[in-house]
Amino acid sequence: MRYKTRLYVDLSLLGENFQKLKDLCPHNEVLFMVKANAYGHGMVPIVRYAVTVLGIKEFGCATLGEARELRDELNDLQFEIYVFSDIHLEFQSCAEFYLNRRLIPVISNMADFDFILSREDFKNFPLCLKVDSGMHRLGFREHQIPEVISKLKKANRSRVFHLMSHLAQSTAVIDANSHSALQYKNFLSMKKMLLDANIVVERSSIANSGAIEQQFALAETHIRPGLIMYGPTSLNKECRNISKWTGRTISRLETYVIESFNVKKGDAVGYGGAVIPEDGVVALIALGYGDGFSCRNKHPWIKHKGEWGQVLGRFNMDMAQIYFPKKDKSFVAHGGPFVIWGHDPQDILHYADQTDSIPYEHFCQLTVRVPRLYCSE
Ligand SMILES: *Cc1c(COP(=O)(O)O)cnc(C)c1O
Repeated sequence: MRYKTRLYVDLSLLGENFQKLKDLCPHNEVLFMVKANAYGHGMVPIVRYAVTVLGIKEFGCATLGEARELRDELNDLQFEIYVFSDIHLEFQSCAEFYLNRRLIPVISNMADFDFILSREDFKNFPLCLKVDSGMHRLGFREHQIPEVISKLKKANRSRVFHLMSHLAQSTAVIDANSHSALQYKNFLSMKKMLLDANIVVERSSIANSGAIEQQFALAETHIRPGLIMYGPTSLNKECRNISKWTGRTISRLETYVIESFNVKKGDAVGYGGAVIPEDGVVALIALGYGDGFSCRNKHPWIKHKGEWGQVLGRFNMDMAQIYFPKKDKSFVAHGGPFVIWGHDPQDILHYADQTDSIPYEHFCQLTVRVPRLYCSE
């Protein structure tokens, strides 16, 4: 575990982002996505704060293990948990968890659907169905809906608790000719098939961050934000200017300078001997791929005390070299703090853009070696 390298999480910024979300979508209920350890921010503290302070009542996990951990750690609190992809209904012991701990499996194929309908003990259990409206990943395809309906009728079930679908291209511009528009049209047509068969659809959702940022598909009861709750826009670089999102990054990734030394043009530094292009200073920071800090063989620039420094040379497991041209040791004193990203969402977006990646990955890949520290000012 690191000491001076930490991910500080300011929960009051989660509150600020949630308020901004409600301003953008005043009529929607929120199903807050906290899969992958709340995008690396620590699922249990995030959900505890979201339930007790923000009043959020519904959360989305990807795996049954995540959902169980939430119930175990927060068993004094009341909230719904959906398990999205890794549901494992085929194991008897797992089926029991859903029933006994009230975890809602998102049903997206016929085998799981048949299983739920066949079980007496699931008879009154909320039925959450996911349909494929054009992402071609998980979900019932449109041609399967008549079969879904006839099976519901046969099992004497007249309600779907939550009908959902997922958008494949909401990080791009959504207009009348976009793939998202087509997906939403397909979603509505599948919903209508259910309604026309007198199946009650109690809740519905399709909007993820990209759709929310463009105020798209807000006529459904629910929205399912992930990334924007943690701060950054999810939109592609080319169209970020159209985003209505103004949230701030709730975390700050801070490390420190282990050592710094002056370098001369032509010096070779670190693994593989990266050659210094002009005189300057190199700071060694306490963050490497063992912490989940990976630059993907790119050499991104990071701002420090108002000046740009560049990640130099190859990866290290335990540290990274940051090179500041034309500077000397007085600029990066050993022991001083070094921030990789702060609360300005541009920090992590700029870093992701330069490494051909997305902010999601940088949040999620931080390893357990980086302690998460929480405050709520
Ligand atoms: C992850 C996920 C979301 C949230 O996506 P963001 O882009 O982070 O907002 C919503 N719905 C489903 C099904 C997801 O898997």
